Amino acid sequence: PRQFFVGGNFKMNPSNVVTKQELLKNLNDADIDPSVEVVIAPPSLYLLPVLELLRNDIKVAAQNCYYKASGAYTGEISPAQLRDAKVPYVILGHSERRTLFNETSELVAQKVKAAIEDDLSAILCVGETLEQREKDQTVQVIQEQLQPVLKLLKVEDWSKVVIAYEPVWAIGTGKVATAAQAQEVHKDIRSYLAKEISPEVAEKTRIIYGGSVNAKNAPESASQPDVDGFLVGGASLKPEFIDIVNSGK
Ligand code: 13P
Repeated sequence: PRQFFVGGNFKMNPSNVVTKQELLKNLNDADIDPSVEVVIAPPSLYLLPVLELLRNDIKVAAQNCYYKASGAYTGEISPAQLRDAKVPYVILGHSERRTLFNETSELVAQKVKAAIEDDLSAILCVGETLEQREKDQTVQVIQEQLQPVLKLLKVEDWSKVVIAYEPVWAIGTGKVATAAQAQEVHKDIRSYLAKEISPEVAEKTRIIYGGSVNAKNAPESASQPDVDGFLVGGASLKPEFIDIVNSGK
């Protein structure tokens, strides 16, 4: 069985992560199902104080990193630096990075590879736009996003990857994918992993859903056989995040 995984992607919110005490206090005081892996991704500036202030059973993630170890790359953070700072996870290939910051699937793949080589785990985001879904290109688009990663990773690297299926049309829109829609794509992704890597990797890799997840819609999606958790944006800043964490099987 795959361990249920719930990530909270704060994105560039709020403007006062550390001084907004109730945010961390809610997490620290919460009754969290100990069988769930919970990971919070604050803006990188706040990773260290959040690590310091947050209870030990909740992990932290960076929202991005570069693929070089060090050097003249103004504004970037390396996997080696994240490891040095004891940050175990990094989100890579988020659709906001792909669209607003022009990250290609090849660049994302290089980042995933570099992160794993430095002992980090990667939350690799994939997903189609509304236009692509309406043209029936969902499967193809996701396979194209995964392919460069498949090329670079070794079989054993996959134990350090969580795949987040985040349909672009569902992110921040309030239009959540139905449980059946999520299940269908997650199953396709798992079959693709089985065919391209191995049935064992496909069986073990967690595939989580992201896009307008809230406390109301989480339980039904969580009950789908191929939905292994969530990557939560807006609702991760609210007390209902705890209910989403506890929505797992
Ligand atoms: P929302 O939950 O705000 O739709 O964002 C999802 C997301 O992008 C998580 O990475």
